[in-house]
Parts: sequence; C-alpha cells; structure tokens
Amino acid sequence: MAHAKRTRMRGSCACGGVQYELNDRFLIANHCYCSTCRKVHGAAFGTFGHAQSDHFRWIQGESLLTGYHSSAGNVRNFCRICGSNLPSVFPEMNYVRIPLATLDDDPKTQPVAHLYVKAKVSWLEISDALPQYPETVDLRELVKE
Ligand SMILES: [Zn+2]
Ligand SMILES: [Zn+2]
Repeated sequence: MAHAKRTRMRGSCACGGVQYELNDRFLIANHCYCSTCRKVHGAAFGTFGHAQSDHFRWIQGESLLTGYHSSAGNVRNFCRICGSNLPSVFPEMNYVRIPLATLDDDPKTQPVAHLYVKAKVSWLEISDALPQYPETVDLRELVKE
C-alpha cells in the first residue's frame, strides 16, 4: 500500500506506564457504539484509528498490558494499573487498532463513520453528517486512497 507521507505520533495510558509510537499515518478512523466499546471505555462510544502494525511499537510498559478477548480473534488491551484502553496489535494481519483518545499527539485523521449505531445509547444524539451503519462494515471499503 502506498504511503504518501509518514507521520510519527505517540500515545500513552492514563498512568503513563504504557507508551507507544506509530510511525505511520492512519488508514481510517471510526466511532463504534457497540455494547463492548461502551463498557470498556465507560463512555457512549469508542473511537478507533486503524493502521498497519509494521510501523507500530511499544516504547515502554508492554508488561503492564492485559488482554480481554471480547470475541473470537479479537483482543482488547488495557493497562492493568489504570485500566486505560490501549492499542490491539494483530501482526499476522499487519494491523493495529488504536483507541484514538489515547494519543498524545494529533492523530491527523478524522473518523469517517459511526458503526453499531443500532446499539447506541438513547442519551446521546449523533449530530454530525457522517454515515451511520447499524452494525459493522468492512472499513477497507471506506478507505480513500
Ligand atoms: Zn496505565
Ligand atoms: Zn465497538
């Protein structure tokens, strides 16, 4: 996949024990309203950036990571000290999914879609014009090259 421009950005958990770096741009980002995202984030939705894991690395604190297998083949990493959601790395797919709000630098991307809107809480209105999908979609089809 061609990359017009690389960009380096860092992220960390709330306690600072875990730090990571992505030396690449995000391919795409989205909001997700599924019940698992709602619970693990303690928020109405989670927002994720998706990138290639070739250019992702843990800077420190990898030993503090704990993984929750929320569904088959899907792990959600969090810091066992502070509970922050952290990136999930799938090297066999060259894929990393990063909770966008854990970045300390500007992700230089904008979410392009709302997923799992059928599970959205009643107390939050979506007020932007991004497309809304009842469940998930193949994000690769939304990537604009
Ligand atoms: Zn932490
Ligand atoms: Zn979700």
